[in-house]
Amino acid sequence: MPRKTARTMARSERSEEARGPGRRPRSPRRVRSGRRAAWENLSAEIRACRRCPLGALRTHAVVYRGSLAPRIVFVGEAPGAEEDRQGLPFVGRAGARLDAAIRELGLARDAFGVLNVLKCRPPANRFDRAAARTCRPFLDRQLALLTPQVLVTLGNHALHALDPDAPGVLTAAGRPRAGRAGPLFPLIHPAAAMRSRRWAERWAHDLIALRRWWDGRASQRL
Ligand code: URA
Repeated sequence: MPRKTARTMARSERSEEARGPGRRPRSPRRVRSGRRAAWENLSAEIRACRRCPLGALRTHAVVYRGSLAPRIVFVGEAPGAEEDRQGLPFVGRAGARLDAAIRELGLARDAFGVLNVLKCRPPANRFDRAAARTCRPFLDRQLALLTPQVLVTLGNHALHALDPDAPGVLTAAGRPRAGRAGPLFPLIHPAAAMRSRRWAERWAHDLIALRRWWDGRASQRL
């Protein structure tokens, strides 16, 4: 187990924030009404989409949850059963793991968002590459409107959707990369972190690396 967990780091850094100069919380970014309207139109288009066979199988298309002016966007692979039922990304068990990580990172509610490469649940939760190609313009348009500073990819499919030249996720996770659409920080998928103690440790370790990297970027901007 890493000696210093992301939780203890977040706690100690929050108390530094309360104490020290130079770590003022950032004010939320503003969302212009034109951008909000474009987002709502895009979301409606995604919810109505039938461009691939997954559209006929879904209960709900899964668009996004989070701030419309996020600093970090977490990119997952595809909705699972619970996401399909509720129409929101990462609301099942993997989502609980992701939300715990977001809390440990100390991210404010208005600082992040969560979405998937695929907007509809694939059968047996198997990532569907052909559907991902059809769905891709939606992802690109979402990211163009959200303009996050950093994308955190969750799992191999999300990583390769955004950085096709990246090595496998087990090699890439835990270190920042210069992706085609801006800086990326790959992580293993939170569902993988629930499968074994080894992957849980890898998840915790890589979260600490993400936190350090993110804080380093923030202090450069002060
Ligand atoms: N796994 C994902 O990749 N995305 C979700 O929304 C849920 C589980």
